[in-house]
Amino acid sequence: MILALANQKGGVGKTTVAINLSAALAEHGYEVLLVDLDPQANASSGLGVRVAARRSLYAALCGKAPLKDLIINTPFGIDLIPSSVELAGGELELSSLPGREWRLKQVLSGIITSYDFVILDCPPSLGLLTVNALCVAKGVIIPLQCEYYALEGLSLLVKTLRRIRENLNPDLFIFGIVLTMHDVRNRLSREVAEEARKHFKWTVFETLIPRTVRLSEAPSHGIPITKYDPQGKGAQAFLSLAEEVLKRARKEKR
Ligand code: ADP
Ligand code: MG
Repeated sequence: MILALANQKGGVGKTTVAINLSAALAEHGYEVLLVDLDPQANASSGLGVRVAARRSLYAALCGKAPLKDLIINTPFGIDLIPSSVELAGGELELSSLPGREWRLKQVLSGIITSYDFVILDCPPSLGLLTVNALCVAKGVIIPLQCEYYALEGLSLLVKTLRRIRENLNPDLFIFGIVLTMHDVRNRLSREVAEEARKHFKWTVFETLIPRTVRLSEAPSHGIPITKYDPQGKGAQAFLSLAEEVLKRARKEKR
């Protein structure tokens, strides 16, 4: 199943969820491919990977290399298609190509059957790279940061998803909303969680991703939380989120 982490807001936890959900799914024994669609390449560096443009997703999207040549087998049981800063220019190059919304789907088509899950880490915008992700994805996972204005901008995202479903990818649906950077001691955090559940009901995953220093440290070591601090509450949260994802994925298949 192909799942995109999307929210046009930056800093809400897309990349943290993309990396650590991928790692947790791998811990559960599944074959996972993580695709870094953000020119900032945080998902790549968070797994200790830095590559030049010709080894990054940019090369595949712009027809300079086959995607399968770009796969990096990380030591964490996750395969990664890394990004590089040139992808920002790549988005512009892409915009003049016919079928520009379908490039990612096209280049992924040869390899997706080798994986149980393909996780797409989107940039913080609703531009062409995110649209490419939403055209190949089946489900969207929306991270919501438990802070002021968490729900602001969500209606734009939901509207965009609807438009993509109507015009480009009829299979697309909201797979789940994940509450990130949750602090149990913080009243606001609890209120945002309550509010989200009131509006989006079962769509919101039960698992709350806690705000922990460990989760913010792990990427600077290039290691997912499941390996960096396996006993900590961050790792435990992502293992439990992965279980919920697996449960929903099974239901979806039936
Ligand atoms: P996005 O990809 O949406 O821009 P990130 O996942 O990069 O968001 O998160 C933004 C920042 O917040 C990063 O520095 C990240 O390490 C930190 N962060 C994300 N989730 C948590 C968390 N649960 N606890 C602590 N820090 C977090
Ligand atoms: Mg990110």
